[in-house]
Amino acid sequence: MTKKKKQTPLMRQYFEIKEKHPGTILLFRVGDFYETFADDAVLISKELGITLTKRNNGGDQTPLAGFPYHALDTYLPKLVKRGFRVAICEQTEDPETAKKAGKKIVDREVTEITTPGITLSEKLLQHKRNNYIVSLHWAGGTAGISFSDISTGEFALSQVSRPELDSLLQSLQPSEILVQKKYKNKLSDELNAYNTTFIDDWVYEGDYGYKLLTDHFKTHSLKGYGVEELEVAHTAAGSLLHYMQETQKSSLGHLRRLYAYENADYMSLDGSTKRNLELTASMQEGGTDGTLVSILDETSTAMGGRLLRKWIMRPLKQIRPIEERLDAVDVLVKDHVRREDLREELQQIGDLERLISRISVGRTNARDLKQLQLSLEQVPKVKMQIGNSDNQLLSSIYERLKMMVDLQERISHALVEEPPASIRDGGIFADGFHEDLDELREIARNGKTYIAKIKDKLAKEAGIPSLKIGYNKVFGYYIEVTNTHKDKVPDHFIRKQTLVNSERYITPELKEVEEKVLSAEDRSKTLEGELFEELRIYVSEFTDDIQQIAHALAELDCIQSFAEVAFRNSYVRPDVNEEDVIDISRGRHPVVEKTLPPGEPFIPNNIHLDNSEYQILMITGPNMAGKSIILRQTGLLVLMAQIGCFVPADKATIGLVDKIFTRVGASDNLAAGESTFLVEMNEAANILNNATPKSLILLDEVGRGTSTFDGLSIAWSLSEYLHNKPEVAAKTLFATHYHELNELESRYERIKNFNVQVKEHDGKVIFLRKLVRGGADHSYGIQVANMAGLPDVVINRAKEILANLESHSLDVSHDGNGAIGKTAKKKDAARKTVQQVESQGQLPQMTLFGSQMDPNVETLIN
Ligand code: ADP
Repeated sequence: MTKKKKQTPLMRQYFEIKEKHPGTILLFRVGDFYETFADDAVLISKELGITLTKRNNGGDQTPLAGFPYHALDTYLPKLVKRGFRVAICEQTEDPETAKKAGKKIVDREVTEITTPGITLSEKLLQHKRNNYIVSLHWAGGTAGISFSDISTGEFALSQVSRPELDSLLQSLQPSEILVQKKYKNKLSDELNAYNTTFIDDWVYEGDYGYKLLTDHFKTHSLKGYGVEELEVAHTAAGSLLHYMQETQKSSLGHLRRLYAYENADYMSLDGSTKRNLELTASMQEGGTDGTLVSILDETSTAMGGRLLRKWIMRPLKQIRPIEERLDAVDVLVKDHVRREDLREELQQIGDLERLISRISVGRTNARDLKQLQLSLEQVPKVKMQIGNSDNQLLSSIYERLKMMVDLQERISHALVEEPPASIRDGGIFADGFHEDLDELREIARNGKTYIAKIKDKLAKEAGIPSLKIGYNKVFGYYIEVTNTHKDKVPDHFIRKQTLVNSERYITPELKEVEEKVLSAEDRSKTLEGELFEELRIYVSEFTDDIQQIAHALAELDCIQSFAEVAFRNSYVRPDVNEEDVIDISRGRHPVVEKTLPPGEPFIPNNIHLDNSEYQILMITGPNMAGKSIILRQTGLLVLMAQIGCFVPADKATIGLVDKIFTRVGASDNLAAGESTFLVEMNEAANILNNATPKSLILLDEVGRGTSTFDGLSIAWSLSEYLHNKPEVAAKTLFATHYHELNELESRYERIKNFNVQVKEHDGKVIFLRKLVRGGADHSYGIQVANMAGLPDVVINRAKEILANLESHSLDVSHDGNGAIGKTAKKKDAARKTVQQVESQGQLPQMTLFGSQMDPNVETLIN
C-alpha cells in the first residue's frame, strides 16, 4: 500500500475521501476526467474495459484508470447495474480561486452516491417498475421492514412474520437490502441472494432512527402517519432514511409521507404463490414473458405501469373497492371511443412521479421542468374524458386531478420551447422573462453595438459629435475627445490620459458597461443558473399536488388498461360476492390461451368449488393432461376478479377469497434431493397452519419429492386434514397422479373426484383437456412414455410389469430389481400407510411438516 508521508497532495486527498466511503467505487474528478486509483482502478478497468495506467505518487506507482467527465452517463450506469455502489467526488471550488488563496489543491467532496437501490438516473430505472430498496431490522422475534423508491417518493414500513417477509420481498423485488452489520455472517441464503449493504450498528441504536424520521417529516411523533406503534419498523425506516440521506447528500423533500404497509387489507399471497402463478416474473428466465402482468399491462403511462404491478401483487378483500374498480372498467369497456381517446391522452403524459422527485431533490434540468409543464397541460384533456360520469371511482379520480394552471404558466412563461439538457450553459430562459438577463444577453450578443449606442448617447449629451470610444488593454474602454472640444467635457468624465491632440476619459457608467460586456456571457449563464434554482424551488413546493395527480392518473391508467385487455380478449365481468362459491363457466388461462401454437385452440373448463359439497376436487389425469393449467387458471381468475379486472370466462361467480396458497410439484421447478422435499413440506405446513375456509388452495402433485409411499400417505392425510378440520376447510384443487386418492371420495362428503380427459387410440394418448367428473383409473404413464419416444422394448417390458403389478403377481425374485420389488408391494403398502394414518386420527401437530415461524431472532435470519 502507498506510504502516507510520501504521497502527493492529490493522492493524500484521494485516500482521505476514499476512506470515508468504504464499499464504494470513488470516481475522483480531476479537471476534465473522473479518475480512479489503486484497487478501484484495477476493478473499473476490468469492468468497463478501459486502460489501466500508473500514476506517480511521490515515488510509488499507483494504478490509475479514468474516463472523460462527459462519459459518466455511459459508465456510471454500467457499474451500478453490476451491483456496485459508486461515489462521485467533484471539485467544489474554482481552481483559480484555490490558486489565489495559495492552496496547492482544490477542495473536493463526494456529492452523490449511486447504488442499485438508490438512483434517480433514467438510465438505471425501468419505466414501469419501481426500484425498491429495503431495510430490515429484527427485535424480539419481530421483523421490521421499511422500503422506499427514492425515484417516486414512496416510503413505507411494516412489521411482519417470516412468511410475510418472504411474500413482501417477492412483491418488492428490491435492488438492494440494508442490514445491520452485526448480522453480516448470519443471513439466510434467501436474504444473501439479494444485493446486501451492511450498515453501522450505531444507526440501529437508541432512538436515532425515530429522531431522524421525525426531523425529516418535521413532526413530534409518527402518530399522524398511523405508524407510531410499529417500533421495530421505525428502526428499519430510520436506517433506510439515514442511508438515503448519506448517499443523496440532500434533504429528500419529496419523501412526503410514511405509510404503513398493511397486509390485513389485502388478499394474502405467499411468496411461493406469487412465484408459481407467475404474476410479475416468469419462473423460467425471470423476465416477464408468460406472466400475468405481460397480459394485463396495457397502461399508457409509467406511473400506471408501476401501479398495475402493485395491484396484481395486492388483490383486494373487500367487495366495495372491487366493485368500484369493476364498475369503472365496465364503463370504459363499453365506451370504445372514450377509451381510445383516453389512452391517447394518457400516452402523452410523462413520468410525473419521477419528474417531481428529480426536481425536488435537485438532480434535474430544464427539460424536466418543460416535460412537467407539458404533462400537466394534458391533465384537463384527460379530465374531459372522464367528466360527467356517474361512476364513483371515475368521479373521484376526476376530483383528484387538480388543475395546476399557475404552475404551468410560470414554467411555460419562463422557459424556451426546447431547453438544453445542461443547466450550466445558459439558453434555458425565454427572452423577455427577466430584464437583467435580457440585458446581459443583449450585451454579450452584441457588445460593440452596445458601446456604439453609448457613444451616440454621450456625444449627444455633451454636444461633441466627434466623441469616440476606444479600447486598450490598460484602461479597457475609454472616451476620446479631441482638444477642440475639451471645454465641453462634462464634469463626470474622469481623465485618464493626455495625448498630443486629445484627452482620454472614462466614466463610471462606461466602466460598468465594460464590466458588463466583458463578463456578460459568464454572468448571463450564472444568472440563468440562479433563476433556474429559483424556479426549481418554486416548482418543488407543488410536490404534494403533483404526487397526488400522478397517483390519480396511475389509477385511471390501470382501469383503462383493464378495460382494453377485457375488450381485446373477450373477458367478462365477474360477479364478486361474499358467498362461499367459486363457479367459473368455460374459464381460460389468460396467458396460455395467448401462447398456444396456431391451430391449437385453448379448451375452456368449468370449475365449481364451494364449502358444502365441492370443497376438495381431486383432479387426476396423466402427465401433460392439463391439470396444472386448470389449477393455475382458477387461481389467476380469482386473483383477477379481486383486483377489479374482468376475467377470461363465459361467466364467473367469485366468492371472496382471503388467501391463495399454491404448492407446485417439486420436480417441476427444483432440483431433486432431500432439501426439495423439505421445501415442499415447509410450504405444505404453511398452508395447513394459515388456511381458512375462505382460502383457495392449489396443490399440484404434493409428495412427489419423496418415495411413492411417503408421498401418497402425506397427500392422503393432508386431504383429510383439510376436509375435517373446520378452521382450515379451504376450497382446494388437488392435482395428483396418485389415482389411489380417488378412494377418498367415498369416505368424505366434500371430496369429489375429477379427471382431465384423455382418449386412448392405437396405444397413444389423445389429450382432450376437458375436466370431467369421476376418477381416472390409471395414469397412462406408459403411453405418455411411448409418445416421448422410449424404445419399444422398454415400453413393452413396462406394460408387462404393470400388468403384473396390477394383478399383484410380480415375483420380486424374478429379476432381482429392488426398485421394482418395492413397487410390487405398492398397493398393499399404500393401504397399510393409509390405515396407519387413519388410526392416528388427524394430524396431531402441524409441525410435522416443518417448523413454522420461529419467534427466535436467530432462526429468523439464519
Ligand atoms: P399436467 O399438469 O397435467 O401435467 P399441464 O397442465 O402442465 O399438464 O399441461 C400441459 C400442457 O398442455 C400445457 O403446457 C399446455 O400447452 C397444454 N394445455 C393444458 N391445458 C390446456 C387447455 N385447456 N387447452 C389447450 N392446451 C392446454
